[in-house]
Amino acid sequence: MKCLNCGYETSLDQHNITCPKCGGILEIIIELKNFTFNNLKGRGVWRYKDAIPGNYTKIVSMNEGGTPLIKTKEEGKEIYYKFEGANPTGSFKDRGMTVAVSSALNTNYKVVVAASTGNTAASAAAYAARSGLKIFLVLPKGKVALGKLAQSILYGANIIEVNGSFDVAMNSVLKMYKDLGIVYPLNSFNPWRLEGQKTIAYEIAEEIGVPDSIIVPVGNAGNIYAIWKGFKELMENGSINKIPRMIGIQAEGASPIAKAIAKGSELPVFTNNPETIATAIRIGKPVNWIKAMKAIHNSNGTALCVSDNEIIEAQKELARKEGIGAEPASAAALAGYKKALHEGIINEKEKTVLILTGHALKDPDSMLRINTKIMSLNPEEIEKNVLGEINVNN
Ligand SMILES: *Cc1c(COP(=O)(O)O)cnc(C)c1O
Ligand SMILES: [Zn+2]
Repeated sequence: MKCLNCGYETSLDQHNITCPKCGGILEIIIELKNFTFNNLKGRGVWRYKDAIPGNYTKIVSMNEGGTPLIKTKEEGKEIYYKFEGANPTGSFKDRGMTVAVSSALNTNYKVVVAASTGNTAASAAAYAARSGLKIFLVLPKGKVALGKLAQSILYGANIIEVNGSFDVAMNSVLKMYKDLGIVYPLNSFNPWRLEGQKTIAYEIAEEIGVPDSIIVPVGNAGNIYAIWKGFKELMENGSINKIPRMIGIQAEGASPIAKAIAKGSELPVFTNNPETIATAIRIGKPVNWIKAMKAIHNSNGTALCVSDNEIIEAQKELARKEGIGAEPASAAALAGYKKALHEGIINEKEKTVLILTGHALKDPDSMLRINTKIMSLNPEEIEKNVLGEINVNN
């Protein structure tokens, strides 16, 4: 394990979550031993257990991962949607949670905590329930999408709302972890969580080989790194022969990394008041920014930002052209793909995978805001009106 802040190095130890020396972000560096795609068993995250470091005497799993890789219906194009909304709680967070919660059990913690814009909360609550661990969630008051809050309530989590943005909630969790010492943090600064999330790369590589580019919505910036790490490990082990370009997408009002990349800077342009309708990526100070920069630079990738309008249009298009329902943050991947095409960063002949991070049902308000005409009719009026509509549309 290596600290990305002070450079401290230590052998692999599941008790380490942040740097024991300075509290910085730790990177887990592993070499795949005897890993090949040829002798894997089962499906989902734990199919790749030989690539997941740590000891797991008890695994808390709901068969997360193994999500559909859906090819676009457009002829002649190699665009794929990795639909993470198909995970047990409806987002990719489950991939990380199965590893992190199992790790918490193996290191004898009794209490887990997480700050969240919503999906980490829903996922952590479910896996905590299944493991029997007590859980505290710290949420930015009034800023969590309805479905995600409802899930956290359903799974029985202890919920704390704080005034302020996600970044304020995150600081409280970091502080709780450091001060109390007895609570296990489930946020993505926990590198063990990212070991589960990297299986997105393993699944893609196993199913379709290595794409030219991966487009990922970026909030706290753990996932873009986790996916890159997966590809990097596979390349170092000889299972694949290249790494896809990692293209991160942020919303205009919450784009510290995209702004830095745009001006050629290594340092993110943090904001105290992140704003976007894509609540899952409404983050002004991404805790994993160093990791994201590493993934982007090493893969010759980039980061772009998209407007809320572009996100809303992309969400609609994805649903109405492809039949795929994704929440706004996930639709940012499609909005970003279009921008990357437009700017000549990628071309439409390339094999590209868009990571659709969460399910549309997470955020019912975002769907209900779409203009539509609902016909309110008496039963005897229905046929006449349907005929009328059919004629109009023909
Ligand atoms: C968590 C989340 C993201 C952002 O992932 P990071 O690892 O924080 O960058 C994007 N979309 C959805 C739906 C999420 O739940
Ligand atoms: Zn350190």
